[in-house]
Amino acid sequence: MTTAIKIQDLRKIYSNDFEALKGINLSVEKGEFFGLLGPNGAGKSTIIGIICSLVSKTSGDVKIAGYDIEKNPTEAKRKLGVVPQEFNFNIFEHCEHIVINQAGYYGVPRAIAKARAKILFEELGLTDKSHVAAGKLSGGLKRRLMIARALIHEPEILILDEPTAGVDIALRRSMWQYISGLNQKGLTVILTTHYLEEAEALCNRLAIIDQGRIIADSPTQELLQKLHSETIILYGEFPEIIPELVGFSLRKIDDQTLEVDLLNQQSIDIVMAHLSHHNIPIHRMKNKANRLEEMFVRLVEEAHVQ
Ligand code: ADP
Ligand code: MG
Repeated sequence: MTTAIKIQDLRKIYSNDFEALKGINLSVEKGEFFGLLGPNGAGKSTIIGIICSLVSKTSGDVKIAGYDIEKNPTEAKRKLGVVPQEFNFNIFEHCEHIVINQAGYYGVPRAIAKARAKILFEELGLTDKSHVAAGKLSGGLKRRLMIARALIHEPEILILDEPTAGVDIALRRSMWQYISGLNQKGLTVILTTHYLEEAEALCNRLAIIDQGRIIADSPTQELLQKLHSETIILYGEFPEIIPELVGFSLRKIDDQTLEVDLLNQQSIDIVMAHLSHHNIPIHRMKNKANRLEEMFVRLVEEAHVQ
């Protein structure tokens, strides 16, 4: 496999001295459907901005299909189609113009651009909007318009930054079907999102970013296995040191609270018996919902311990 995007030790310090990226290493292989997952403010858009040369990097290297973004900017850009997080087209311009003008920046002849735009608009359900001003479209259709614009020069890599913000569920589903179809035909797709469900359904590999650092990077299935542990909160009276139980992770939160991670087949009965054996009373327990935030917290804690 060849590498679509290779990022090495990428750092970004904004002009207000805020360090948004603290040494990012990432590589995305050609043909992958790659998800960059992270809470708001983690640095996702900063990475995307640097990849497409909208944001200047402080240090580090970025290569797109082997082309360095600084040494070979034109070749690098030609490989990329980008759907930014914010709508950034002229709202008074007609949809078809927006897409055809974009093709012009890449040197695509007008007649070819027109033919391609027609096909893209059909595929994306925008045909009847061709001559409508972009500002009149719904959020979901605006997003589709940006997808058409990103694809008009037939890039090898499509980057979507938070593509489902403001898109209703029906449009979201068909948008993903469309993008997945393109991926199956060989397009490398990179998306950023803070929704785990979306990333889980689409991406074959996920990296998690938090506070400017990559804290996980693995095939989706492996990451989900980590997640598919369940966390139980036990309320009781806990001693200074919780007696160890082999195979279980018991975390004392405070004198009244203990958290237990149960992997797929593990039973809470073993933990209860263990605590009872050590005369530790339990008054109550509840299931801690395994949400994305919780995973972030856990992974960040692990990253700090290492
Ligand atoms: P994400 O896309 O993951 O939500 P961003 O990359 O947009 O995160 O932002 C990462 C961090 O950098 C945030 O704390 C944000 O406030 C900060 N940031 C983004 N753009 C700028 C800027 N132009 N100047 C200063 N700080 C910025
Ligand atoms: Mg963002």
